[in-house]
Amino acid sequence: MSTLFISDLHLCSGRPQINRSFFGFLEREARSASALYILGDLFEYWVGDDDLGDPFNATVVAALARLVGGGVPTYLMHGNRDFVIGGAFARASGVTLLTDPALLSLYGQPVLLMHGDTLCTLDQKYQAFRREARSETWIRNLLGKPLAERRAAIEALRRQSEQEKRGKPAEIMDVAPAEVEATLRRHGYPRLIHGHTHRPARHVHTVDGHVCERWVLADWYQAGSYLACDESGCRAVQLKS
Ligand code: MN
Repeated sequence: MSTLFISDLHLCSGRPQINRSFFGFLEREARSASALYILGDLFEYWVGDDDLGDPFNATVVAALARLVGGGVPTYLMHGNRDFVIGGAFARASGVTLLTDPALLSLYGQPVLLMHGDTLCTLDQKYQAFRREARSETWIRNLLGKPLAERRAAIEALRRQSEQEKRGKPAEIMDVAPAEVEATLRRHGYPRLIHGHTHRPARHVHTVDGHVCERWVLADWYQAGSYLACDESGCRAVQLKS
């Protein structure tokens, strides 16, 4: 049995092909896993747990609840698009919310899980926005607005971010090597698994003489994929679209 990791699905009602692929993954591959970890950006955006009644959101929650009910512990970390997922979502779906970063021991090895956006420290503008948007005041202010207004506000933020991304050099949008090293050092040289950058790869970092593997998860824009880890290591698997 392996432990599975996914991220950056960006689920939304407007992308039925990826949704089918995700529901299929939960019914098949995830069904026989020892645990499933979702490392952020499960949704294209999440405007608040009071939107659980939306038919598409309810379908996703029900599918996760079936998996958890079938005996597969499922963990969810916030991404930069769904960081206001809260306790009501967790209760309805049965998933356990994880902090970012989360250090765990897996098959006797330390593994550090992150969404990945905090590693992109070269993008100072994004980091400044992130600090602001994760503050209690910002979140309270957002959740205090009517749902329709929140959707419009988040749509506007997304458009702005897409616009800004076009003007940013590619290396700014990737993790900062120095931040990766500092993170690996701070957490005792674990294996690191993260998403966010949409640059799936296996990297090897040597930090203070310790060899650390860093797996970057793929996004689900074209087709689904997951990382499967067991005693012998990890491997990336592409789902058939
Ligand atoms: Mn992200």
